[in-house]
Amino acid sequence: MFDQLRAFHRPTTVAAALRLFESERRAGGRGRFVAGGTDLVVQGDRSLRFLVDLTRVPLRYVKRHGAGWSIGAMATMADLERSVALRGFADGVLADAAATAGSPQIRNAGTIGGNLANASPACDLGPPLLALDATVVIAGRGGRRRVPLDRFFRGVHRTVLDGGLLVEIVVTPPGAPAGGRAAWSFHKLGRLESDIAVVNAAAGVVVSSDGRCRWVRVAIGAAAPTPLRARRAEAVLMGRPFDREAVAAAAAQAAAETRPVSDVRATADYRREMSRVLVARALDECAERMGRDAWASW
Ligand SMILES: Cc1cc2nc3c(=O)[nH]c(=O)nc-3n(C[C@H](O)[C@H](O)[C@H](O)COP(=O)(O)OP(=O)(O)OC[C@H]3O[C@@H](n4cnc5c(N)ncnc54)[C@H](O)[C@@H]3O)c2cc1C
Repeated sequence: MFDQLRAFHRPTTVAAALRLFESERRAGGRGRFVAGGTDLVVQGDRSLRFLVDLTRVPLRYVKRHGAGWSIGAMATMADLERSVALRGFADGVLADAAATAGSPQIRNAGTIGGNLANASPACDLGPPLLALDATVVIAGRGGRRRVPLDRFFRGVHRTVLDGGLLVEIVVTPPGAPAGGRAAWSFHKLGRLESDIAVVNAAAGVVVSSDGRCRWVRVAIGAAAPTPLRARRAEAVLMGRPFDREAVAAAAAQAAAETRPVSDVRATADYRREMSRVLVARALDECAERMGRDAWASW
C-alpha cells in the first residue's frame, strides 16, 4: 500500500523530524508523520511519497507537571491504561478511556498523539481530554505553540497541525475547593468491546461546599464532525445544585447539541439518543464518585 513511497525517515529528535518533513514537503511530495501506524496503515493512502517515523523521537512519557500532567505524544494507549499515576489522576478517566481503545495489540502500538492528530470524530481520547481542559503543544516552523484542545479539531480528519508535530498534551484540570468535590467519568458505547465508539462521552464536575456546580465539562464523541464540547449543557449545570434534575436537563441539552450522521455503525437518531444516555451516565457517575449518597438533595 506504500509502494509509491520514495523516502522513509527515522529521526531521533523533534528538530530533525520537522526538518526532514519540511525538506520532503518542499521537494514536492505528500507525506505524513507515522507513530504506531494503526490509523495510517489502515487508511493506506497511495498518494503518500514520504513518511517520517516518530518511534525513535523521545516523546514517550507521562510526567507530573505542577498540578497536572504532561503526556508525550508517543505514549501508547497501553502506557496510559497501565500508568499507576494516571489511574490515580482525575478518577482515572484517561486510563479508562485508553483501556477501551481496540485490542491489546492496537493499544500497544497506537499513541495518544496519533489518536488526536488523526482527528476521527470517534476517537476515544478526545472527550476525556476535553473534559480535562487539555492543551496540546505543537512544534512547527515558527517554534512551539500551545493550543487548547477545543480549538485543535477542525473537522473529520482535520486539525490545526498543518505539518506541525504534536509534541505533548498537558492536562491541568481544577482541583476541588475547600469542602467541595471534583470528579470525572468516561463512558463508551460500541458494538463489541474492541470496536470504535458508536458514541462516547466524558464529564468533569467540580462542586463547591454548598453542592452547586462551579466548573463543568461535558464532551461527546462520534456525534459530530469532531469530538464536541457540549457548552450549552455545561451552562445548564453551572451554578445549579448538582442533582438528578440537573443531570437529566444537561443530558437532554447535550443530545440537542450533537450533529450526528447515519453510517454502518448507527443511525443519527440512535447516536443522538445514546449521547443523552451516555452523558447522563457520565454525570451520574461523577455524582456517585463525589459520594452523592450523603447528599440530602440527591
Ligand atoms: C482494529 C482497530 C481498532 C481500533 N479501535 C479504536 C478504538 O476503539 N478507539 C480509538 O480511539 N481508536 C481506535 N483505533 C484507531 C487507532 O488505533 C487510534 O486512533 C490510535 O491512537 C492512532 O495512533 P497511532 O500512533 O497508531 O497513529 P498513526 O496511525 O501513526 O497516525 C495517525 C495520524 O496521525 C498523524 N500523527 C501521528 N502522530 C503524530 C504526531 N505526534 N504529530 C503529528 N501528527 C501525528 C499521522 O501522520 C496520521 O495522519 C483502532 C484502529 C484499529 C486498526
